[in-house]
Amino acid sequence: AAVLGLESSCDETAAAVVRAGDGAVLAEAVLGQEKEHAPFGGVVPEIAARAHLEHLPRLAERVLREAGLVPADLAGVAATSGPGLIGGLVVGASVGKGIALANGLPFVAVNHLEAHALTATLPGIASPPVAFPYLLLLLSGGHCQCVAVEGVGRYRRLGTTLDDAVGEAFDKSAKLLGLPWPGGPALERLASRGEPGRVPLPRPLLGRPGCDFSWSGLKTAVAQAVARLPGASPEGAKADIAAAFQAAVAEVLADRAAHALAMLPAATALVIAGGVAANAAVRGALSGVAAERGLPLVAPPPRLCTDNAVMVAWAGAQRLRLGLSDPLGHAPRPRWPLEEMAAA
Ligand code: ATP
Ligand code: MG
Ligand code: FE
Repeated sequence: AAVLGLESSCDETAAAVVRAGDGAVLAEAVLGQEKEHAPFGGVVPEIAARAHLEHLPRLAERVLREAGLVPADLAGVAATSGPGLIGGLVVGASVGKGIALANGLPFVAVNHLEAHALTATLPGIASPPVAFPYLLLLLSGGHCQCVAVEGVGRYRRLGTTLDDAVGEAFDKSAKLLGLPWPGGPALERLASRGEPGRVPLPRPLLGRPGCDFSWSGLKTAVAQAVARLPGASPEGAKADIAAAFQAAVAEVLADRAAHALAMLPAATALVIAGGVAANAAVRGALSGVAAERGLPLVAPPPRLCTDNAVMVAWAGAQRLRLGLSDPLGHAPRPRWPLEEMAAA
């Protein structure tokens, strides 16, 4: 039996069908909303909610068709129900509940962060499969955390950001460099043409005890470097700033990850998740840290690092396997920390 997953917590509309037993991805689709939000330089919640409403029902039908299934064949329906933008969450949860109700299926209200956290356990991502406990670095647009993942629903936060999320730092720095939104991938492309050693940038919290993060000072330093650029021929100079920014982020993440691994001696792997985990410089720096400890770095393929519904279906499948589902009255939660999962 398979689980239908729906994702609509931010600006990706996504649906997927995943086989519950072996995690085989039977169908998946993601629609971005770059065109809708780019003119505003960021996600506009009301526009995002309307776009989800327009596209999600048809996307759900499409993945079911591609999987060769009708809703009655499903083991359950899983929809991201937080954290995220409330309008999009209400759309996704309501579509999911409708399909569940019409077909007598269990509904799972999926925590988006749990979905990112458990992506590494999707069969085929790591071989041998990753085992609990593992150290998760959640590197996304809204979060930057070190988490001990001790089981499905069992998360212990070891460190977090004191200010911005790391994806936010990428997006804000990209904007300062004049790159189009969304900035993370654009900054990575620009950095590939730059020289990281030409612009000195700070390494916030490097070497400090614990595994917290701070990115706002780095972003301010990028703003100052951009302000110092001469009027003429700034293209290569901008690439140098992008490369220096990315190198600073990668070095800090490596340092923080090393500290976090020391706080979780039982860790079987270093796992990364979230959109920034798609970044090659970040992946490279963290694979070095993992190797030093003799641990594998488990990094999902980039399409499963950024928002997707495969991870939602898979998180739903694992909760269903534990006998967990949610009432149709479950209210989507704009704020929903991972630590509150155990109580659910
Ligand atoms: P959260 O998961 O915390 O709710 P989110 O769902 O918006 O936030 P994700 O979709 O997981 O976040 O990640 C999006 C973030 O990842 C954005 O900030 C984006 O700029 C960043 N990102 C995506 N690809 C890359 C890349 N190649 N390099 C750096 N950053 C990237
Ligand atoms: Mg997005
Ligand atoms: Fe996300």
